[in-house]
Amino acid sequence: MKEFDYIILGGGCAGLSLAYELDINKKLNDKTLAIIETRDEYKRDKTWSFWKVTDHNFDDCVIKSWNNFSVNSKLGSHEIINKEYPYQTINSGLFYKKVLNELKQNKNIQFFKNTEQINLDNSFIFNSIPSKENNQANLWQHFKGIEIETQKDIFDDEIFNLMDFDCDQRDNVHFFYSLPFSKNKALIETTWLSKMDDKTLNDYDIQLEKYIKETLKIKNYKINYQEEGAIPLFYPSIKPEKNKINIGSAGGMTRLSTGYTFLNIQNHSKYITDNIEKIQNTKTYHIGKKYEFLDNIFLNVLKNNPDKMPKIFLNMFKASSKTVIKFLSNKSNIFEDLGIILKMPKWIFIKNIF
Ligand SMILES: Cc1cc2nc3c(=O)[nH]c(=O)nc-3n(C[C@H](O)[C@H](O)[C@H](O)COP(=O)(O)OP(=O)(O)OC[C@H]3O[C@@H](n4cnc5c(N)ncnc54)[C@H](O)[C@@H]3O)c2cc1C
Repeated sequence: MKEFDYIILGGGCAGLSLAYELDINKKLNDKTLAIIETRDEYKRDKTWSFWKVTDHNFDDCVIKSWNNFSVNSKLGSHEIINKEYPYQTINSGLFYKKVLNELKQNKNIQFFKNTEQINLDNSFIFNSIPSKENNQANLWQHFKGIEIETQKDIFDDEIFNLMDFDCDQRDNVHFFYSLPFSKNKALIETTWLSKMDDKTLNDYDIQLEKYIKETLKIKNYKINYQEEGAIPLFYPSIKPEKNKINIGSAGGMTRLSTGYTFLNIQNHSKYITDNIEKIQNTKTYHIGKKYEFLDNIFLNVLKNNPDKMPKIFLNMFKASSKTVIKFLSNKSNIFEDLGIILKMPKWIFIKNIF
């Protein structure tokens, strides 16, 4: 059976980002890599968006970026401008194409459908396959998005809507997220922050149709693309192993309070690549202990007070735009953290520390 220096389990966002980073930094010129991936074909299946607070390799896969966004609730709308950190959207189809074109030129990289075809014993393994763990107490961010196209120009494509809470909450936290890619094309997403035990929340198509027709007042549109997902808002339990590192969502790269993962995956890939020669003795990469602590309190507040969340989010976005974006993208300093904490209802947060 074939042996490889490195094995990546799961060729999705994290697996391919890591392989690409290793390849372009010439770490695979005299090392071999096997990527284990079950899917038969790569096509657009996700739309990754994030504030560009650090550089990454995929600017050429960005389909749109914005400097303005809004947050709405029943209490009103708040517009935020930030020129320093654009919000970028990547089409996963372009990402897969770019990465696979690069990787297929390196004869030291091979793809397999399962691990039975190779010997894993002497390899260093990067695992991005999520474990199936869940319990009823865990929160998830679950959603469905559709890219719609209208005949007339309807959207203002200079500004995107990060959260619109002016909708049915059903005792959970619910908002719509709209990314106008052009004046007649936009991704509209219905998003819930809830446990996964209430299947009545999953009537996503009805929610989307109602929002598009009644709130956005769009009567005629066609659907070009759709995506659905559930991002765990809890850390995976990772058993430390000598020859294995977990990456991607399976490696704790999701920011729990937001679900943002893409840029953390890119930073983790860079960290692994910088340390690849001594990877067995390298410290585990973390998003940051302070964010783990603050996000756990935030999620406790969310679990116990879903009705208060629209106001809490709206208040948070009243801090300076640079501060909020850096905080949500795990790049804030202690003063910026304080700027956010002071916007929160103190008594509710203190009660939820314990
Ligand atoms: C629809 C959607 C939209 C998202 N949007 C955003 C966003 O806007 N911004 C953001 O920051 N994050 C976003 N996320 C969260 C996160 O960035 C993505 O989930 C990202 O794809 C995580 O990368 P990953 O490599 O951990 O998982 P994946 O990209 O899912 O990769 C895992 C891979 O493992 C493969 N696999 C699974 N089981 C096996 C097996 N047994 N053997 C071999 N291969 C296997 C899968 O086919 C898949 O290719 C989104 C998530 C989803 C689902």
